[in-house]
Amino acid sequence: MRITALAGGVGGARFVRGLRHHLDTTGHRDAEITVIANTGDDITLFGLRVCPDLDTLLYTLGGGIDESQGWGRADESHAVQGELAAYGALPQWFALGDRDFGTHIVRSQWLGQGLSLSQVTERLAQRWQLPERGIRLLPMTDTPVETHVVVDDGEGGERAIHFQEWWVRHQASLPATRFVVAGLDAAGPAPGVLDAIRQADVVVLPPSNPVVSIGIVLGVPGVRDALRGTTAPVVGVSPLISGRPVRGHADACLAAIGVPSTAEAVGGLYEDFLDAWLVDPADAGTRLARARVEAFDGPLLMSDVEATAGIAAHLLRLAEPARA
Ligand code: GDP
Ligand code: CA
Repeated sequence: MRITALAGGVGGARFVRGLRHHLDTTGHRDAEITVIANTGDDITLFGLRVCPDLDTLLYTLGGGIDESQGWGRADESHAVQGELAAYGALPQWFALGDRDFGTHIVRSQWLGQGLSLSQVTERLAQRWQLPERGIRLLPMTDTPVETHVVVDDGEGGERAIHFQEWWVRHQASLPATRFVVAGLDAAGPAPGVLDAIRQADVVVLPPSNPVVSIGIVLGVPGVRDALRGTTAPVVGVSPLISGRPVRGHADACLAAIGVPSTAEAVGGLYEDFLDAWLVDPADAGTRLARARVEAFDGPLLMSDVEATAGIAAHLLRLAEPARA
């Protein structure tokens, strides 16, 4: 079985880890998971290319994640960041640990030698033994793209700031009027991305942020058409429960694009290709015009790997009637 997932960082990574666990414990070790990761969050800091969602996926799926934060490396220290601060180097609002720096340094070195982001990601994934675990990690595109957030400049005008500045520095508290993804129109899907969607047996949408994670992947030219055209069922998990994101600021992102913060409205963003939508029991009243909606038989919370595996199992069952 070939499963393809579109993913952001923490929500995507935790879901794919649970999906892998479900497959491994139910006799489907040979099932292959391809993850197509958002790269709109990427940023260059201190001359280094940082890819937050790819890194969260690498560390979570490779067993190196800081579990309580959900991002960054376990057993982390911050000596380098302390040195940078002592020099007054900016910005200081983006946390980068010493172990994490290793990833950004080697990625930047390889990119500088002319490797594509896909090639670099493949090398990084080898260190984390993702291929051995039956997981292929692809960036959505090899073109550098960056999500920017248009906010009020306080003087009656507008200014655009990098997504990370809005999300991390301002905790999404500055009202956003829209998102602009620099480079996206001209970005091609990375090698293997469209084939992974077209040739999958099932395509899954983890409960990733619908606007700045999944929404950005869907904006890569060709991706949305591939989802509409694939013969594979496309099934998804709601990132919202009772109108609120489980973590992060998806509600602020949805407000910026004028979409209500509900499981129904988020499912509606995918209506042109979605076959089934898994929601929390609290959202059992959700109705979509085309996709089948089902409520999970417990809280839709990825509280640990076992609980997440249960969510993944339910999602794959939803794909079955569509496949038959
Ligand atoms: P990010 O790039 O690190 O922000 O991660 P993603 O975009 O992949 O996922 C963020 C989304 O995951 C948020 O909108 C959360 O509401 C959602 N999320 C996180 N944990 C859970 C969970 O346990 N259950 C559900 N249903 N959604 C979750
Ligand atoms: Ca992200």
